[in-house]
Amino acid sequence: MKYQAVIGLEVHAELSTKSKIYCSCSTSFGAPINTHTCPVCTGMPGALPVLNKQVVHYAAKMGKATGCTVNQLCKADRKNYFYPDLPKAYQISQFDVPICENGEVFFYVDGEKKSCRLERIHFEEDAGKLLHDEIDGTVVDFNRCGVPLIEIVTKPIEGAGDRAPEIAGAYVRAIRDIVRALNISHARMEQGNMRADVNVSLRPSPDAPYGTRSETKNVNSFRGIEKTIQYEIRRQAARLDDGKEILQETRHWDEATQTTAGGRLKSDADDYRYFPDPDLVMLHITKEHIEEMKAQMPEMPRERRNRLKSEWGLSDLQMRDILN
Ligand code: ADP
Ligand code: ZN
Ligand code: MG
Repeated sequence: MKYQAVIGLEVHAELSTKSKIYCSCSTSFGAPINTHTCPVCTGMPGALPVLNKQVVHYAAKMGKATGCTVNQLCKADRKNYFYPDLPKAYQISQFDVPICENGEVFFYVDGEKKSCRLERIHFEEDAGKLLHDEIDGTVVDFNRCGVPLIEIVTKPIEGAGDRAPEIAGAYVRAIRDIVRALNISHARMEQGNMRADVNVSLRPSPDAPYGTRSETKNVNSFRGIEKTIQYEIRRQAARLDDGKEILQETRHWDEATQTTAGGRLKSDADDYRYFPDPDLVMLHITKEHIEEMKAQMPEMPRERRNRLKSEWGLSDLQMRDILN
């Protein structure tokens, strides 16, 4: 190939806590619309958020399982934007001081060991859901508002060549397996409780600066992630061949046409006017708590794999046939 692809993956996983991140509303799926709501998660003036401890525990466990540093101090920031499914007009997320940073996730592609490095893991609240209906028009369901998510962000994945789609798919499967082993998320992509934003850019050579990326939002199947990368590499290469520039934009994957379509031009972080949420204090996680968590970690998929390999004397290729 004439161009080198650089990939970035942002995986959102819904945490399986009983209640929401900043209020005590239920997170259970499939309730009648707008029944799991209260003044906090519908953004009523004066309502105050109270952080769910379990969210912190789950996010930190994920950090421990992926070799991240769990920061003893972190904070919650407001990410401001307007959309009808976001009643406060801001999402409580984490900006410059996330709970976890600098990890690495290992996995196998065709029996060959690979890894992706992580930039960060942070926790945030989900938005509501717009339901489009021919009779009622558009209805907004706030049940999902405030359901806790973790967002797992990779560092740019370089040098994957033709195997970029495969490697991305295997990485996201590894994330699914880890969150399930930790019992912190059901990670069912078809129910939308795990979804990925797929960033792709091209550059002429491995030592050239990164090109402009497109970001395909909310891809909710492994095939979709792989196909998005394939399609974006082809689309961007064709544009570059024609001497056209790549726009920094968000796109979406269309399963029916098996293509991505342009969305909106991407805002920079500046446009979100991130600032620390004045309703929430800095979060302090004690060393003891982190140690205690480490001691409680279950056997991770990779450890189990290594154990079975040595106990049974199997090769990587044989392991692939057993586990995949
Ligand atoms: P944003 O909030 O704008 O989506 P993030 O930094 O949270 O930005 O995530 C961007 C993702 O894309 C990360 O996984 C990052 O490693 C990756 N990335 C950054 N620059 C590029 C690029 N030029 N090409 C491909 N991926 C990139
Ligand atoms: Zn609520
Ligand atoms: Mg993003």
